[in-house]
Amino acid sequence: MYLVVIGILAIVLTLSSPIYRLVAEPGLVIATAAAATLLPAVFGVLVTRRVLRKLDRHPQQPSRGQFVFGRGMTIIQFLLGACHAGVMLCTDWLPLCHQTPVIGTWPLVPGLLALVPFLLSIVLLWIVVYPADRAVRQIAVEVYLFRGKPLRPVWPLGQYLLYNLRHQVLFILIPMALILAASDLVTRYEQAIADATGIDFAPDMLVGLAAIAVAVVAPEILRHVWVTQSLPDGPLRDRLQLLCQRLRLRYRDILVWRSGGMIVNAAVMGVIAPLRYVLITDAMLEQMEDTKIEAVFGHEAGHVKHHHIPCFLLFALISGCIVTIFSVHAHGLPRTDYQILLTLLGLVLVFKWGVVFGWVSRRFERQADIHGVRTLTLTGLPCSMPCVLHSSGENPGQTIPGDPLCSTAAHVFGHALYEVALLNGIQPEARSWRHSSIASRSRFLQQLAQQPRRQQRFQRHVLLIQLVLLATAIITSLWAAYELEILSVLGKWLTGALTEH
Ligand SMILES: [Zn+2]
Ligand SMILES: [Zn+2]
Repeated sequence: MYLVVIGILAIVLTLSSPIYRLVAEPGLVIATAAAATLLPAVFGVLVTRRVLRKLDRHPQQPSRGQFVFGRGMTIIQFLLGACHAGVMLCTDWLPLCHQTPVIGTWPLVPGLLALVPFLLSIVLLWIVVYPADRAVRQIAVEVYLFRGKPLRPVWPLGQYLLYNLRHQVLFILIPMALILAASDLVTRYEQAIADATGIDFAPDMLVGLAAIAVAVVAPEILRHVWVTQSLPDGPLRDRLQLLCQRLRLRYRDILVWRSGGMIVNAAVMGVIAPLRYVLITDAMLEQMEDTKIEAVFGHEAGHVKHHHIPCFLLFALISGCIVTIFSVHAHGLPRTDYQILLTLLGLVLVFKWGVVFGWVSRRFERQADIHGVRTLTLTGLPCSMPCVLHSSGENPGQTIPGDPLCSTAAHVFGHALYEVALLNGIQPEARSWRHSSIASRSRFLQQLAQQPRRQQRFQRHVLLIQLVLLATAIITSLWAAYELEILSVLGKWLTGALTEH
């Protein structure tokens, strides 16, 4: 869902009129927006009925219902994105919002107005898929019962909607709205800013700086958008704090992330240590044993240690540079050429985020998994299986090739992953855009524990990906700077400032 929300918000953030004006008459535009709002929900009704029927017919194999639900939701998200991107790119919906009397000229308001059908569509969709989601979650809850762990009733509709809204929409909408407000304000005073600084691109640079500032302070905002509280003092907090010291992981706080006991998950957010939070959901604390929580915690720490968050920001920076380079070249082109170029740009960005980003993410997840395994070893997990790492003690003098993983730790970590999937009602074989299936991640770790050299190769492979990412970011930044003639302008500005003195 994140990708769809980000994509639609990015369109609202960058465009103020459609690229292909297929529908211009206001009545028709509103009708198209209404149709786009309803269509995903209609499809949602069909998916829900299919899921409930499957669960009903095959009570012994709930995985069949889970599979239909997972696949159905993927298709619905695609449909949701396509419908609303269609409205914004092919109808006069965006100009219509900007021309709304009075409020249409306020900063931020037209953008938010343009998002209303999309947000409405998401809420409608959640309402219609709620019965299916609830049924799938019920299976997970029965697992809790089976394990003799505390059990909470599956959340009612209101709570489900609120949770989804906070975690899937506001989580992205609020930071993006801040950037949108900054961009609207800068656009309004564009001339004044350019005149005051004497730099043509100063307004664009201000928006860029605002975006960076939002990215840095976002965790502080998000901890309030989500319902969180500091992890209470106790044995688990002590263990995790000790672990952080050993891992040399710096953070502001460890937070419990409240989900009404429904979501088993952990996350880390924040680019800089003073604004970095590690989050663990309430259900994970209730349902999983401390060792497995440490395993998941080690995975999240791995994302920090291997610089995955800055890498994702580089990814966004590259997009920004591509768009900048494009807008310089597209300036003043004939309408049809402009449309073709813009379509190409759209395809490039969809490929970059839809395919490349997913591919890179999956490798980062695996690297974080390896870090999770190492963390388990660091906590002193006793080794009880044939293991390359720990068998060396028996033959001192024999050097172990390539920094091996402990087989037992890999095994326990794999178990922790299975447990997370089971408790969330996700099939171990199910894949997602950012994550490989739990089963394949688990298998991968077992293989690496047996083949240390392969582990080394994998680490080099990820390092290479990161270097390519960094190099691409530097090249596109320099290119964008060249297109904007930043260097010559800066040079003039500097010499001007020097000669004045
Ligand atoms: Zn992860
Ligand atoms: Zn071992």
